[in-house]
Amino acid sequence: MLRFDDHLAVAVSGGKDSLAMLRILRKIERQFPKARLTAVTVDEGIRGYRAEAVKLAKKYCDELGVEHVVLSFQKLFGITLDVLVRSRKELSPCSYCGVLRRRAIHVGAKRARANKIATAHNLDDEVQTVLLNIFHGDAKRIARVEPVLVDPANRFLERIKPMCEIPEKETALYAYLTGIRFQSCPCPYLETALRNDIREMLNRIEQKHPGTKFTVLRSMERIRDYLKVSVPSIELKNCSECGEPTTQDICEVCKTLKGVVK
Ligand code: SF4
Repeated sequence: MLRFDDHLAVAVSGGKDSLAMLRILRKIERQFPKARLTAVTVDEGIRGYRAEAVKLAKKYCDELGVEHVVLSFQKLFGITLDVLVRSRKELSPCSYCGVLRRRAIHVGAKRARANKIATAHNLDDEVQTVLLNIFHGDAKRIARVEPVLVDPANRFLERIKPMCEIPEKETALYAYLTGIRFQSCPCPYLETALRNDIREMLNRIEQKHPGTKFTVLRSMERIRDYLKVSVPSIELKNCSECGEPTTQDICEVCKTLKGVVK
């Protein structure tokens, strides 16, 4: 995943996973003089929640001596997530949030002139995503849930998930043991997300049958190999509204923002 001269944009939310990952990557980076890190934090505009996380992320970046870039939905898209979810009800808040956050992290990484993006998806996140894709009837997407995502045409920065085999409980333990101060209160929109129900279900199964999450991850790796053969590779074109690369005529970001009362 890592090269000696990478400039990594590390997506840091202020939660335990991303701060733990930042600490570990900083340790590694110190051993490679040509490597560089920039932390990228996105403020979605979630009242009573995100401000604390941004503060904690900033403080920890200062402690570690890591350059920190903060971008907000308000500045990038002219709207906060709170206003967006009041205006659009078709999808869950997390669906809108995910689309805009991915773009925001990419913008932050480009501004920092990074060549790669590291996100702190852990084992639990990965397994939840597989089941979510199945629940949404979009099994083909499993082919794209990879620990390393490279765009052969180089229009998207490479994305890596260094923590994808680490259970959430272990990152939490690491964060506690190393004294990282992280945001522990959950996002107010989490309750509405299907992902949250899948998370609770998986935790119940894991409690009763330890090792289940790893088994699902390994099964997914095998299924992905078969899917890659049968699923045609995606052709990217330019969004007719914003010009960003997309698989459709209009990208998900522009679709999300279309007709929204700001
Ligand atoms: Fe965004 Fe959903 Fe995560 Fe909240 S829980 S930060 S709305 S993706």
